[in-house]
Amino acid sequence: MAKASEADLREGLVDVMQAMDARGLNRGTSGNVSARLEGGAMLVSPSGVPAARLEPQHMVLVRADGSTPAGALKPSSEWRMHRQLLAARPDVNAVVHCHSRYATTLACAGRPIPPLHYMVAVAGGADIPIAPYSTFGSAELGAGVVETLAGRYGALMANHGQIALAPRLDLALAIAEEIEEQAAIYWGTLMIGGPTLLSAAEIDVVLQRFAVYGQGSRSAEDR
Ligand SMILES: [Zn+2]
Repeated sequence: MAKASEADLREGLVDVMQAMDARGLNRGTSGNVSARLEGGAMLVSPSGVPAARLEPQHMVLVRADGSTPAGALKPSSEWRMHRQLLAARPDVNAVVHCHSRYATTLACAGRPIPPLHYMVAVAGGADIPIAPYSTFGSAELGAGVVETLAGRYGALMANHGQIALAPRLDLALAIAEEIEEQAAIYWGTLMIGGPTLLSAAEIDVVLQRFAVYGQGSRSAEDR
């Protein structure tokens, strides 16, 4: 995969933050996104700046030791979780976190999303699990999310929201959008008696079809 420059990543992070706003995944300043840089560093969106006002230079460089350059904005309160995920997952380069309505509804009800639609598998497994609750911004929250996401690309976060990760920013955004769509569908089926679930064997077939992840050969939006 061609390495994106820091300047490209700064623009990409602004694009994703604004796309989350435009597509209703987020409101106000609650979402945050990050991208991997060389040497254990990352770029993360800043704390408290509405998406519409974000500019590439606002993205905060967080070094491997957790420090930021003099004059940088304050990084998102969830920067530790982003750093923990990028450190634990060399297979991904981008993390998208948001409080989208249906995903957060299910996360607050303690309901992981079961295999009710084949696109659940876009998050890397037969369901979309829920990471345990810890206070926002805490290292415990990040540790729980890392553990829940082992081998996965997306999860709900108990009493909080959802998180998606991928080799590229645009793919991470597409997974977050799909998680929200699956959450809305699940919520809808619960209103009319509950979903009819796919079998484990059928989900395995879909997971194999999706297994081209990391080879840069497909877009999560081309299905
Ligand atoms: Zn959050």
